[in-house]
Amino acid sequence: MAFELRDVALVLPDRRIGTGSLAVEGCHISAIREYPVAVPVRAVLPGLVNCHGHTAMTLLRGCGSGLPLKRWLEEAIFPVEAKLTPDDVACGMTWGALEMLAGGTTCVADMYDFPREGGRALAATGMKGNVCRVGLAFAADNPPGRLEECIRFVEEWSDGRVVADICIHSEYLTNEPFCRALAEANRTLRRPLHVHVSETAEEHKACLARHGKTPIAYLADLGLLDCGGYAAHCVHCTDGDFAIMREKRVTLVHNPSSNMKLGSGFARIPEALAAGVNVALGTDGCASNDNLNMFEEMHLAALVHKGRLGDPTVLPAWDVLDMATKNGARALGRSDTGELAVGKKADLCVLNLTRPHLKPCADLANLLVYSAQASDVEQTYVDGELLYDRGVWPAIDAASIRADVEIRHSRLFSCASE
Ligand SMILES: [Zn+2]
Repeated sequence: MAFELRDVALVLPDRRIGTGSLAVEGCHISAIREYPVAVPVRAVLPGLVNCHGHTAMTLLRGCGSGLPLKRWLEEAIFPVEAKLTPDDVACGMTWGALEMLAGGTTCVADMYDFPREGGRALAATGMKGNVCRVGLAFAADNPPGRLEECIRFVEEWSDGRVVADICIHSEYLTNEPFCRALAEANRTLRRPLHVHVSETAEEHKACLARHGKTPIAYLADLGLLDCGGYAAHCVHCTDGDFAIMREKRVTLVHNPSSNMKLGSGFARIPEALAAGVNVALGTDGCASNDNLNMFEEMHLAALVHKGRLGDPTVLPAWDVLDMATKNGARALGRSDTGELAVGKKADLCVLNLTRPHLKPCADLANLLVYSAQASDVEQTYVDGELLYDRGVWPAIDAASIRADVEIRHSRLFSCASE
């Protein structure tokens, strides 16, 4: 396939806004021609990368609202998740992918149960994703077969746009022998680690009490970060943690909506960037957000740190745009996407610039972060393929998925109260 988006504004790699056209051949950007366009009515930016999610939790949207993390997990989330079937996960994944595509997101890092079914459902939508089999080991002994399953999943999984990484849920839900064994296996697998880190003060302090070190230091000492990784939340990470993350090429995934909704706190993002840590953005799951809207995450990230530090100069719009695009692509080992440049994959988000809240436009980067909405996205392309077009997902029967979501939601929540 070949096409050209003409007379558009372009968000270019060197933190520059251009105007002109972008051509696609096959799955790659084949040409970018810059020329003056007086009033561009559309903007093209790299597809957004949601670097931490539990996409199938769309079925649990809003579940447990108002509870702090530990009670939220134990009282609201785990009882419903115990009822989830592989087909539920596939349905929730598809529904979440439709939401993300409609908001310009082209790639997601997903952590959830039944990853084969979820991964297949994600691949069927055409979106890109890094999926994983979650390593969980509550008791002193490893659950039979779980480690082997995690390893097999990485070895066997390959579905074009969807790839597999290694994963443990967190230090507090995974025992040390399991972590050591997974780190040993990863000397061969050589995949980055997807993990939750220092989300709450309580979790961070409990790790210090258990191991005499922070969660990041604990994971690093076990060898689990030897092939890099991406750590969600990092709300209570220290300067020492940032030094380890930089050295080990571990990305900090900022989840401002989730951290505020669960009352977990504010990750020290400007400080992490100053320490040389790669920072990306994620929505987290739909029960702690309660949507998969990366424009909202950009907006919040740009605002909360200025308020927290009393300093309007921190996290300028370009820093936030990088977090939502190329930094996320780097975290997921996808050097072929995340930027509008010739030769990169044509993962594109096309925005309508004519709506009242987007006019006039003095500074497009600023406008995208502070004023644009996910609903301004007109088209989303992955590998040059049009997957969302003005309210329609050409390859997906959205009405039947929506009906399926309602049926499954009713069953899950009627069962959960029994
Ligand atoms: Zn999470």
